[in-house]
Amino acid sequence: MGFRVYNTLSRKTEDFAPLKEGEVGLYTCGPTVYNYAHIGNFRAYIFEDLLRRHLQFAGYRVNQVMNLTDVDDKTIRGAREQGLPLQDFTAIYKKAFFDDLKTLNIEPAEQYPAATDHVPEMIELIRILEEKGYAYRSEDGSVYFSIAKFKDYGKLAHLDMSGLQAGARVAQDEYEKENLADFALWKAWDEADGEVFWDSPWGRGRPGWHIECSAMSMKYLGESFDIHTGGVDNIFPHHEDEIAQSEAVTGKPFAKYWMHCAHLGVEGRKMSKSLGNFYTLRDLLDRGFTGREIRYALILTHYRQGLNFSFEALLGARAALARVDEFRSRMRSTAESDRISPAEAPDWVASALKTFSEALNDDLNISKALAALFELIHDGNKRMDIGSVTPAEAASVEACLNEMDRVLALLEPVEAALDQELLDLARQRQEARKNKNWAEADRIRDELADRGWEVQDTAEGPKLKRKN
Ligand code: AMP
Ligand code: ZN
Repeated sequence: MGFRVYNTLSRKTEDFAPLKEGEVGLYTCGPTVYNYAHIGNFRAYIFEDLLRRHLQFAGYRVNQVMNLTDVDDKTIRGAREQGLPLQDFTAIYKKAFFDDLKTLNIEPAEQYPAATDHVPEMIELIRILEEKGYAYRSEDGSVYFSIAKFKDYGKLAHLDMSGLQAGARVAQDEYEKENLADFALWKAWDEADGEVFWDSPWGRGRPGWHIECSAMSMKYLGESFDIHTGGVDNIFPHHEDEIAQSEAVTGKPFAKYWMHCAHLGVEGRKMSKSLGNFYTLRDLLDRGFTGREIRYALILTHYRQGLNFSFEALLGARAALARVDEFRSRMRSTAESDRISPAEAPDWVASALKTFSEALNDDLNISKALAALFELIHDGNKRMDIGSVTPAEAASVEACLNEMDRVLALLEPVEAALDQELLDLARQRQEARKNKNWAEADRIRDELADRGWEVQDTAEGPKLKRKN
């Protein structure tokens, strides 16, 4: 079975077939850089990372574009409040965003275009829309898209267009379905914009938010491309408007598959900056959680299911990862004890990997994929307990974990987990204990502790464990 995806456009699960064989063009709406991203935003970025990694795992070459919205209503307001030029203000949050991606082990996209570097492309699209009769100027010199002119308007959000009030207009970037109206492509300069403006055929002004994504996606991925993603809040108006603008210009289908992740909530409400109920990644790191614990907690639930944030969930993630780590090092030391070329994976290992990849092929069924991982751990531990795992089998389990981790990206890098120096220290301590040199053994234990590792003496010999 190949990859199957739930397409918001058709409201159906479809077989995935890219436009160009073996390649996937993926556009993921990126951050509005006016503040630190909150972990609700990162739920979306982690879902997209899972998608990207799974596509690669399935053998596709992925070309991912994630935009940086560095000019819109919110960034202009923020820069003004801080008394900073727009570029200086957004630079702070761009940098923070890239730092956060690293912390969460999110694989970088191929391109991160910034809106302010693509204003001429946006102006060109608006010019064509005007030429084709889809856009009109308002009294103040702004340019609006006339949704009544685009017959497919509403096809993504499945809107009922019957109550449409002709000529109603909305200037804000974000608005509700109740305010269904012509939206701004170009906003004429006003005082609140201060220094922020570009010259255009319609005078000084700035682009609307939606046209930014149409211009940047088509520039880097072509007029038609494979997958477009975001959180469900992006479906309307942002993605609906992107489709209208792009397809009105090209006359071709814009994105083939639309995938949207459900929200991360807090006590039943969407986590968002405007509600003030949000945690940034930094808030959680300050409380002692690690990037991989947070990644685990956010990746755990199927992307189309709502996910409620809680500290218990983070503690659960910590416990689950400890179990994975322990299992991995158990297999590792068995494999280590007699490292020969790994044998073919035995059935119980091969079938775990198969279940894992089939689950992800089924619209990224992560719960089932993780269940396959924990089944492998359960099974492997039982076999270890009765001493039936050979070093070659243990090595194949390790290889299986590494394969799964190409998608999950949750394992500690091996070097960090057990680098040679640490292993040597552990061995020296073992040696010292054998010779009843307790002072030396204690000294080495303290040295390991200083480096963040704890030695546990188990029936199978000493084990190194990361200190909590
Ligand atoms: P923004 O910076 O507001 O444009 O949002 C960036 C991305 O995060 C978009 O794809 C949003 O749909 C997504 N997003 C915003 N809030 C949440 C949330 N609470 N849960 C999941 N995704 C979200
Ligand atoms: Zn976008």
